Amino acid sequence: GKARLSRMDKAETTCGYCAVGCRFDLYGKDDEVLAARPADPEATPANDFSTCVKGKFGYDYVNSDERLDQPLVKEDGEFREATWGEALDRVAEGLSDIQDQYGPDTVSVLSSSKTTNEENFAIQKFARQVLGTKNIDNCTRLCHSSTVAALKQTVGYGAMTNRIEDIGNTDCYLITGANTTESHPVLATRIKQNARDGADLFVFDPRKIDLAEHADQYTRTEGGHDIAWINGMIRHIVENDLQDDEFIEERTRNFAAVEEKVQEFTPEKVEELTNVSPEELANAAETIAEADTCVFGWAMGISQHTYGTQTVLALADLALVTGHLGKPNAGLSPFRGQNNVQGGGGDMGPIPDNLPGYQELSDEGVLERFEEEWGVRPPDEPGLRVTEMFDEVDEGNLRGMYVVGENPAISEPDLTNARESLEELEFLAVQDIFMTETAEYADVVLPAAAITEKYGTVTNTERRVQMVRPVADPPGKAHADWEIVQKLAERLGFDWGYENPTGIMDEINELVPIYGGITHERLEERGEGLQWPCPDEDHPGTANLYTEGFNFEDGKARFVPADLGDPTELPNEEFPIALTSGRVLYHWHTGQLTRRDEGLMSHVGESYAEIHPETAGTIGVADGEYVEVESKRGSIVVKAKVTDRTAPGKVFIPMHFAKGAVNKLTQEELDPISRIPDYKMASVRVRSVGAN
Ligand code: SF4
Repeated sequence: GKARLSRMDKAETTCGYCAVGCRFDLYGKDDEVLAARPADPEATPANDFSTCVKGKFGYDYVNSDERLDQPLVKEDGEFREATWGEALDRVAEGLSDIQDQYGPDTVSVLSSSKTTNEENFAIQKFARQVLGTKNIDNCTRLCHSSTVAALKQTVGYGAMTNRIEDIGNTDCYLITGANTTESHPVLATRIKQNARDGADLFVFDPRKIDLAEHADQYTRTEGGHDIAWINGMIRHIVENDLQDDEFIEERTRNFAAVEEKVQEFTPEKVEELTNVSPEELANAAETIAEADTCVFGWAMGISQHTYGTQTVLALADLALVTGHLGKPNAGLSPFRGQNNVQGGGGDMGPIPDNLPGYQELSDEGVLERFEEEWGVRPPDEPGLRVTEMFDEVDEGNLRGMYVVGENPAISEPDLTNARESLEELEFLAVQDIFMTETAEYADVVLPAAAITEKYGTVTNTERRVQMVRPVADPPGKAHADWEIVQKLAERLGFDWGYENPTGIMDEINELVPIYGGITHERLEERGEGLQWPCPDEDHPGTANLYTEGFNFEDGKARFVPADLGDPTELPNEEFPIALTSGRVLYHWHTGQLTRRDEGLMSHVGESYAEIHPETAGTIGVADGEYVEVESKRGSIVVKAKVTDRTAPGKVFIPMHFAKGAVNKLTQEELDPISRIPDYKMASVRVRSVGAN
């Protein structure tokens, strides 16, 4: 009750799970988080009063006895407790010894979308300035790197063009490859309400997800050839003269190339490749073209393919043809995953192909500005992506890693391979809040603070920078990531001298033009945060991108024709079933947080495979029995969940579990442009192993 809450500490803060960026008041005492309650509505632009089950109740992990509260070092294959001094010395030596012997680029750093913007900035600075390595990446590679690559080419910024508010107010939706109800619950609530009030909702997806039940048209796509139906829609629009001529003429370039490209995507071809009927294709294309406003929403079902970049190019072309950009209530809306993947994972530059704020490695002026501030010129050529790092370990080109808050031993595709590489590293330091599957391989483990224990900013899926504030103390000797990395820098000869995260934000304001005016001082005054680009302190932030011009020198968007890619692994006689993976509402990514939550585990306590009743009949498995699912790369045993959500001949397995880890089955094929893995396409066979 109220009396109890009044005896606790309270902080207005931002959710640490997904990138919707819901805000609420958190209550805590000492090192425990005790309750979440709605915050001042002024301060909750993403969620109003709503939150989902994770943001509301998912705090057992913070309070867990399994939190790391001491630095650990490995001796004779066993971890023992160590002082901070010893642990930090070992990390500094471990990395610099390798660099002295083999060169600066034989070590790499993985940063984390679960830490703050300030911390990500500090971590990439540690890689570029202190270690002088070009190899810095993070999990954004695994989710929307293809989206970012495509949007940079077509509209200019690799980010959502509109606001979350627009997602509740548009006239029309095309949602594809996004299970919004489970992955971005508060967005789904907005979409369903608006659809009930009359907005047209089109869902194209191989799985009959919850949003499909609310759609005006749900189309079960075959999967593997999404470019075909999107290009087919553009063809239909142009053929019927429904394109936005004025928009195309005034605001874009290169339309003719796309017009020509889409010719081959006849309704017959589209139907053959994707199962989308000519009627469904025409209905969706016409409604989208004729709507005043439309939001195009997508996530991993589109991005995680070897042709992910091409598919997002096709979506961008569709938005440009119909003119649904650069105005309120319309836009391209990639739904980002981690709470800070947009900011920490992208904007802050812990990525190997550009400096913070998407500034080019080839821009001499930018390099000079960083050199002036840091006293060291950042490496000016692109480094390894996380998906390339493990192969380089096998080749002997990468020997040491410093991993902050990432868990590649669960998140990498083809896990058996990735784990062998982790084992092979000469030196591995892991900084995290738990002994993760990856930390088990480490030489040194550094205990970090959770998001509820620190101060700083995170940037949600609509580019909104919002504050997080501490409501509890880190357990034992754990520290915030920025403090740990600052101490490491000091041991390696760089005295950063940040007194707090505000000191880091001041440097971000200096060096990152799109964050130029996003100061802590302003954010403390504005509960609703600020959306980038925000170049100076008088700038109100940018709600909708491209209202004036696109992010190119001439202000015009670029049409880029999208090529139909080849599916990497189709079902065959030996492995006749198509596998996809994804999220469930009650869990989070590699499961380190939610698998420790009793309440959430009571909803979904173990991994499972969704199997269509027909397919279950063929295999001879009943709901609740166990099946062995096997691909070329490995096998797992999981519970069968018989349901028609999944199409006949396909299985779906969630990605959050260590036992029954789906990435033992997935393949390491990469998109040539973004190097995102093809998580969404693998072929398996399934056999019943009985009730177990
Ligand atoms: Fe947190 Fe996302 Fe749920 Fe909001 S929708 S409470 S941001 S997990």
